[in-house]
Amino acid sequence: MADRYDAIVIGAGLGGLASAATLAKNGLSVLLLERHHQPGGYASTFVRGRFEFEISLHQMSGLNLKEKSGLCLFLEELGIMDRAKFVSLEDCYRAVFPDIDITIPANREAAEGILIDHFPREAEGIKKIFELSFNTGYAIDYLQTGKPKMTQEQLQEYLLTKMDKTWGEVVNSYVKDEKLRAVLSVYWPYFGLPPSKISYVLFAIALSSYIGNGPKQIFGKSAMLSGAFIDVIEKNGGEVRLGCGVKQILTEGGKVKGVITEKGEKIHSDHIISNVNPISTAVNLIGKDKVPQSFLERIRTSEISTSLVTAYMGMDASCKELGIDDFEIWYYDTYDHDRVYESRKKLNDTDLLLLTAYNKGDPNFSPPGTSVIVLSALSDPEPWYSTPSSKYVETKNKYAEMLIKKAEKHFPGLREHIEVIEVATPITLMRYSGNPGGTYLGFTYSVKDGPLSRLSNEGPLKGLYFAGAWTQPGGGYEPCITSGRWAAEKVIKELKK
Ligand SMILES: Cc1cc2nc3c(=O)[nH]c(=O)nc-3n(C[C@H](O)[C@H](O)[C@H](O)COP(=O)(O)OP(=O)(O)OC[C@H]3O[C@@H](n4cnc5c(N)ncnc54)[C@H](O)[C@@H]3O)c2cc1C
Repeated sequence: MADRYDAIVIGAGLGGLASAATLAKNGLSVLLLERHHQPGGYASTFVRGRFEFEISLHQMSGLNLKEKSGLCLFLEELGIMDRAKFVSLEDCYRAVFPDIDITIPANREAAEGILIDHFPREAEGIKKIFELSFNTGYAIDYLQTGKPKMTQEQLQEYLLTKMDKTWGEVVNSYVKDEKLRAVLSVYWPYFGLPPSKISYVLFAIALSSYIGNGPKQIFGKSAMLSGAFIDVIEKNGGEVRLGCGVKQILTEGGKVKGVITEKGEKIHSDHIISNVNPISTAVNLIGKDKVPQSFLERIRTSEISTSLVTAYMGMDASCKELGIDDFEIWYYDTYDHDRVYESRKKLNDTDLLLLTAYNKGDPNFSPPGTSVIVLSALSDPEPWYSTPSSKYVETKNKYAEMLIKKAEKHFPGLREHIEVIEVATPITLMRYSGNPGGTYLGFTYSVKDGPLSRLSNEGPLKGLYFAGAWTQPGGGYEPCITSGRWAAEKVIKELKK
């Protein structure tokens, strides 16, 4: 290890990996420092018994394997597409409400058709919402790449006049049926806020990307993708140190100067990309007294997105034997998404259960004759914080029991096939990633912190940049990889000056 680099990247989550790979590919000397012994942050796996579990990825957005645009092009340029292979999922989701059971395919015309079959009186509204959402997605592409061409009027209609709107406000203005409003918004827990609070622009981009490009899984799970990034970094002369956290970011006169690792080594660089959440970066790694007040105020007044509980289950039977036909099923106890959001505060109940059957995407996800089923529900960190540590394990097991009971209403006898189970709570995620509250998205996707108004990739000190869920364009696989790319491009531009 040298004692000076063009850039140091702290944290090997997707944002950190993408930025280090971009820097190395562009010929810069780069050092990536990660506290854990494996890369990826949330984009990794763990093993229990004969099962390897995916920690996070249900569906990846932004990968159009046919047209090879956007994220695909970037991954191809890096050489990642040669190493990581993706599984295309046929359907975006199956959603089960009190009296509606609907499956939305990953195809715009087919999705519109199915919705119109269910809600024929709302045909015009359905078409309008799809037209708007897809065009909002194109408007963002236009702003970022200049393609496809868009007139000022179109930009105005599809994006600029909608920037201060929630998804709920826009949907409600075109659709009257409460049940249809709920069905169009099924994906919201992926993005942490219900329709009444979530940025229209964010939800429209995400929905049109999932339906238009088709959601993806990764053969070999997310560890394969994270490993592919590491290969690119190392093959291009970058250095990666795992099991080596950063204790301090050194500064001088409002500029970053290097880092001190948890092992006490001092390494110099005038460019640091932090994939560590901006709160810990500012408060713990730099020190409040060295960060401008305006930045501290900005992060203090932005709300942190919620977390979740996940029960990872290795089953001794195949999906077929368990009677599970879908990759992912959203069970909603009500059409009222605000009520569902509120239920994240309870430890003894939830109005939402998400069941993911990974082998329906990749049949080789687990050993032959077995399957991996994951049950998830949104869960706020607060009730977990106030659970005494002596009661934590019991509370976590009770929560998992509640999720299994809910799943058994649809798949009786499921529990008899559980060979291994591991449960992760907001506390687990927080401990693992260092993200406050165990959030999977960073700041909320409210109108205030939507994709265009989110915290910049440029940090509050000269030479400091951010990559990852908390900054532009946001949380999730596609956005975090993009944020890493954007942060690296800023460093490259700065170095070329
Ligand atoms: C259960 C779950 C399901 C999800 N499902 C999906 C999905 O289906 N689709 C999707 O697109 N997204 C999904 N996400 C969200 C997605 O995984 C995250 O938004 C994304 O992976 C976050 O990446 P990041 O770059 O912000 O880094 P993080 O994953 O937050 O990683 C940060 C890294 O920094 C390291 N670090 C922290 N402090 C230090 C330090 N001082 N020194 C060195 N290293 C440090 C940590 O160890 C960690 O490796 C899910 C997340 C979870 C938890």
